Amino acid sequence: MSQPLRRTKILATLGPATDAPGVIDALLAAGLNAVRLNFSHGTAEQHAQRIAAVRAVASRTGREIGVLADLPGPKIRIEKFAEGKVLLKAGQAFALVCRADAPAGDATQVGCSYLGLPRDVGPGDTLLLDDGLISLRVEKVAGDVVHTEVMTDGALSNRKGLNRLGGGLSLGALTDEDRGHIATAAKLGVDFIAVSFCRSAADIELARELARAAGSDAQIVAKIERAEAIENLVEIVEAAEVIMVARGDLGVEIGYAELPGLQKKIIRESVARNRIVITATQMLQSMVDNPIPTRAEVLDVANSVIDGTDTVMLSAETASGLYPVKSVEAMASICLGAERQFRHDTDFEAARRGLTRADEAIAMATMFLTEHIELKGIVALTESGGTARHLSRFRSQVPVFALSRFDEARRKMSLMRDVFPIHFDTRGLSPGVAARSAAKQLHDLGLLDAGDRIIVTNGDSMERRGATNTLRLLEIGVGGHVEGLGEL
Ligand code: PGA
Ligand code: MN
Repeated sequence: MSQPLRRTKILATLGPATDAPGVIDALLAAGLNAVRLNFSHGTAEQHAQRIAAVRAVASRTGREIGVLADLPGPKIRIEKFAEGKVLLKAGQAFALVCRADAPAGDATQVGCSYLGLPRDVGPGDTLLLDDGLISLRVEKVAGDVVHTEVMTDGALSNRKGLNRLGGGLSLGALTDEDRGHIATAAKLGVDFIAVSFCRSAADIELARELARAAGSDAQIVAKIERAEAIENLVEIVEAAEVIMVARGDLGVEIGYAELPGLQKKIIRESVARNRIVITATQMLQSMVDNPIPTRAEVLDVANSVIDGTDTVMLSAETASGLYPVKSVEAMASICLGAERQFRHDTDFEAARRGLTRADEAIAMATMFLTEHIELKGIVALTESGGTARHLSRFRSQVPVFALSRFDEARRKMSLMRDVFPIHFDTRGLSPGVAARSAAKQLHDLGLLDAGDRIIVTNGDSMERRGATNTLRLLEIGVGGHVEGLGEL
């Protein structure tokens, strides 16, 4: 293999900065694995155009690029100011008027779209605006007006987000607007739908039901970004297929000093429960304006890789920054560097937690062998991607080539660490022949060389999902002729 394969996946947000001609090509060439459409911005028309652009480049270059639709969720916002923005001074009074017909804001008050706010807050609470740049202390609540004292000087402009330190603002996770977006996402055929500000497993299940009803089989991504989601972390992780450490809002609700511990905990809980995990927000923030990352950002991305994240995400860096392509290039090289410098031990703890499925048992046995035999690759013939997911959860130093004939299954594997989805059709082949011709195909693609030893996993019945029950030790011979492995 000429170049080392990067195991950590990169998810980048599309936006105005990626719309210029040639940018999508360059992002894919730089190593992008999946794209995020942020439904908080842009129109359905724009999302459709962006997906079409990505799919065109992906099919031209033979890449498997996942598409994630990120729902806005119930982000609580203040309304507009008569002058667009105001300057607030520490110590002054400032009121939040929670009425549909609140007047345009000024330096003493502004409207708030969340009419339940007076019920949810009380004297002494801290409210944070604009990702924490402005903080307000609640003095009293009178009818539909929340009276506060400004704690820090600062400028406040239209429609900034509002959080309570400690969480607990009780707006439901899926707004009417989100329901409309789910229908749009289903029409666009996205692979993942992300639920912002989810509070419980029920929010995830509702999103899945709505997606299914709209004809989508997208996997559901739970964004962990409010205090209640931390309280209900285990049930949310169990309910979703993919988890996002949404550090932006989470840092505001819980206090940013809690983020390092929470990031590690969310990643650990997700991987242990066979889920995929994305680390998001401000990873290379300075690259919105600069062509290289700060050293602190380099360390942050690398530390996420060491923590065991599957995927790292870019937001404004690619959607609206000056250097979208350089951001993906930087991310890719930082991930590769971290993967080279820090080895992930295979997690045999999983076995002691009790295996319940044959495909999981085969995955574990495969991982055991990768620790004891010099292997160049694991080849998983997988209909749905289930075996690849198990193999990926156990972690190893050996790449997992996941071969499936289903486009959707391959795109869903785009976020899995260590997994490289490739098109392969097993129909009409016996399991033994399929294993050998899969290995031959990887040889012909330049991913395996003569002399390489591999494990191929598959099922007796390859047309059935989750039926993996076999592992085979094979060796690539000269010219890609594949033989059974005898002597180790
Ligand atoms: P957002 O979510 O970018 O949609 O706000 C991510 C985060 O809060 O970190
Ligand atoms: Mn958020």
